[in-house]
Amino acid sequence: MDLDDFRKSAEKAEQQNKKLFAKLKRLKPKDLDTNVHQFHDEAFEHIDCLTCANCCKTTSPIFYQKDMDRAAKHLKMKTGEFLQKYLHMDEDGDFVLNSAPCPFLGSDNYCSIYESRPAACREYPHTNRKKVVQIMDLTMKNTMVCPAVLEIALKLSKAYK
Ligand code: SF4
Ligand code: SF4
Repeated sequence: MDLDDFRKSAEKAEQQNKKLFAKLKRLKPKDLDTNVHQFHDEAFEHIDCLTCANCCKTTSPIFYQKDMDRAAKHLKMKTGEFLQKYLHMDEDGDFVLNSAPCPFLGSDNYCSIYESRPAACREYPHTNRKKVVQIMDLTMKNTMVCPAVLEIALKLSKAYK
């Protein structure tokens, strides 16, 4: 995955995508989930996250209590120690990582706490969940992070001209 190329494409499409997601949010097409799920599956048929890891390199998942407990256990630490070492509260009151790239991301793009990673990492980029219309702003942001989401947006722009 060439992330420089991706970033250029994402920036070029940014304004068009902002309009697209604002329109989808307004119109709430009935077949939106079906289309997004299909485009998600098509994107991940050829995109290999291990050649990318841009989400882990540039953004932080939110850690809820269960996520902290699970990750801390994996690392044989107390939850409090884990929190103190790796997390802080952001302006929205959510616990997020202190730094990016994620400290658990290896140079080979593998996650060292993979089986115990937060739910947000498992669910990213959230394009196979139900009621995607509820997360149009987030999905717009993710066109700038995730090559699969950028591809989904391109297909959506053709489906909802
Ligand atoms: S989810 Fe998206 S940003 Fe994250 S590694 Fe996969 S393709 Fe890259
Ligand atoms: S915990 Fe693992 S999957 Fe989640 S951001 Fe860090 S490296 Fe990526």
